[in-house]
Amino acid sequence: MEIKIDSCKHCGKGFTFDSESVPRYRVDAAPLVIVYVLDCVNCGRQVSIDIEQSYDEFLQEMKESEVPDGMKRCPDCAEFVQEMARVCRFCTYRFGEDN
Ligand SMILES: [Zn+2]
Ligand SMILES: [Zn+2]
Repeated sequence: MEIKIDSCKHCGKGFTFDSESVPRYRVDAAPLVIVYVLDCVNCGRQVSIDIEQSYDEFLQEMKESEVPDGMKRCPDCAEFVQEMARVCRFCTYRFGEDN
């Protein structure tokens, strides 16, 4: 998803970035607020932006993203957990024998 920053707090110039390419910090709330921290493409200094996202959108995005090696996705909360995990560390979902 492309996200637009209206004006960098350091240089005042706006730019857009791809949300997939920067680390983000999830803040649990309803609606979810996701904080992206990145370097301004104009001045190179760090800026952060808060994006509100509905939980449904968040789940959808998680479902579309790829599962990293050694991980599996919790069917309940869609977070990635260790492949060997029996209990999801995010929502305490219990995996069965076959997942
Ligand atoms: Zn800047
Ligand atoms: Zn879970």
